[in-house]
Amino acid sequence: MPELPEVETIKNELMPHIKGRKITGISLTWEGIVKKPSLEEFRRRLIGQQITGLRRRGKYLIFSLSSGQALIIHLKMTGSLLLNHASDEPTKHIRAVLHLDNGSEIRFRDPRKFGAMWLVKDVSGVVGKLGPEPLEADFTARVLVERLGKRKAPIKPLLLDQNFVAGIGNMYADEALYDAKIHPLRPASSLSREEITRLHKATQEILRAAIGNKGASVENYFRPGGELGTAHFQFRVAHGLGGKFCPRCGAPIERIVVRNRGTYFCPKCQPYLPGL
Ligand SMILES: [Zn+2]
Repeated sequence: MPELPEVETIKNELMPHIKGRKITGISLTWEGIVKKPSLEEFRRRLIGQQITGLRRRGKYLIFSLSSGQALIIHLKMTGSLLLNHASDEPTKHIRAVLHLDNGSEIRFRDPRKFGAMWLVKDVSGVVGKLGPEPLEADFTARVLVERLGKRKAPIKPLLLDQNFVAGIGNMYADEALYDAKIHPLRPASSLSREEITRLHKATQEILRAAIGNKGASVENYFRPGGELGTAHFQFRVAHGLGGKFCPRCGAPIERIVVRNRGTYFCPKCQPYLPGL
């Protein structure tokens, strides 16, 4: 699933090609991709609009339009946005196409059809409840200590909770917990200040490095030009891609299921009871 680094890469790589372009049409081959408003209204309010900006919030892409409205896209499990020319070969699994006034088009590829689009006047209805952005200056270690302090939930599901912190998904949560040597099921309130500070640093470093590597091409993620990202080559545990043994201590990597998500960790480096 595309997470913060993948969505950030898409934003960075699409932006220079689409800013200032006018949307001249929209084709939908999977109408269920439009969540709001009605299809008729979606088309009417979208066509003719100029794209004035593109930003990311959590795992959402937000296209600002000249009308003051915003087109919001969530790629969910298997979505990608491909930038093509209208004359390019058709691509498989395309659910929606935004046609632009220079003959280029943004193709929403989504094999499993979980992706979603909204056209809204006020973005807060879709992204208003998201937690802080983990790479922004105001997300300090102290803020994380305060936010985790009273939570009894296990740490990994909290990291995945978009209302707790935005943008982190299964891959980068496993990598950050591995880096910080924290067991994924440790209750948040049991973490020491030192452990949380380590987790904060690990999270930021891992997300920044993954953006530098243009995201992780696990499953269906493509960059807008169709290229793959290479962040998954750096994985030590996530998705089982780091190999069978811990690169730090050599112990066998374990897989457990945490709230329906396959979770990889090193039982020796990330003990449930630290100090034992
Ligand atoms: Zn280890």
